[in-house]
Amino acid sequence: MATWSPLTNKIRESKDNSGNRWYKITRITPHCWVGQVSIENGLDYFATTSRQVSSNYIIGADGRVGGCVREEYRAWTSSSRDNDNRAITIECASDTKSPYAFKTAVYNKLILLCADICKRYGKKKLLWISDKSKALSYNPKSDEMLLTVHRWFASTDCPGSWLMSRMGDLANQVTALLQGDTPSDTYVVSTSGNALRLRAEPTTSSKQVGYINNGTIISTDKVVKGQSIGGVDTWAYYHGGYASGKYLSPTPKVTEPTPTPEPEPHPEPTPPTPVPTGKKYRCTCTKGVNIRSGAGVGYSKVGAVNYGQVVTIYTQKNGWGNLTISGNRWVCMKYFKAV
Ligand SMILES: [Zn+2]
Repeated sequence: MATWSPLTNKIRESKDNSGNRWYKITRITPHCWVGQVSIENGLDYFATTSRQVSSNYIIGADGRVGGCVREEYRAWTSSSRDNDNRAITIECASDTKSPYAFKTAVYNKLILLCADICKRYGKKKLLWISDKSKALSYNPKSDEMLLTVHRWFASTDCPGSWLMSRMGDLANQVTALLQGDTPSDTYVVSTSGNALRLRAEPTTSSKQVGYINNGTIISTDKVVKGQSIGGVDTWAYYHGGYASGKYLSPTPKVTEPTPTPEPEPHPEPTPPTPVPTGKKYRCTCTKGVNIRSGAGVGYSKVGAVNYGQVVTIYTQKNGWGNLTISGNRWVCMKYFKAV
């Protein structure tokens, strides 16, 4: 049985492969196609070309995924036998000229496909080590997947400077999805009555791919920046399209049960204790971060901090920070930056 990602929309296998891999899958290598190719044309090309090239997957310009070389097999993509025996390779539709930019739908699907691959091979972390020699000599731990790039193995621009400048973001976004500590936000569609258009890209000039009725509550785990409408430039990704944040009102966060205050011990005159001042941090995770009742992902969610929100951290332990002086409202500090 051939293994394909459940995100695969179409399969056409290429004979250009070396059969079973020599090594376990520990790498993902994204490439730029150098053209806004569809999966149909991309799969046809790999199936018929005499150039002896292939990849495990192709992400077409509309964000659909084509399967070309099953995951068990080594594809011929990165000019490196050593790399491609370890890597799942992904060709991505891109512009034809440097910096070989990807469309939003392609980059978003790359994030989801990488997360899906990592998940299926038991990886909890996708790593980007920008220094080539450090990366290639790094031995990933059993729950780690490593990103590599074609330009390390051949004289090529691939995957292009557009993606090169986003490799760290790709690794972070995939790792955030894998660690599941990213609450989805809910919004109410609030228009003057009309249905809200869903667009293929976060801009009103992009084609309509669906709509949501006014008053509908939607849930998204992805909010992106796009064209500004009435001063609002955030767009929520929902059911394969983008809805303008101008017409979305955040629903109230689930209110936490108000803790019943413990009866105060007999008030005794106590010397005034200095109030801890805490330190301010900004939330850097675009999906927001859960607040938990203890310092660890095993504790229950008791709220969320939104992207960009500045909070005060009073104490820290084991990489977690407490938003209260004496209570328990903890956030994972890796998503916060001191301000
Ligand atoms: Zn390449």
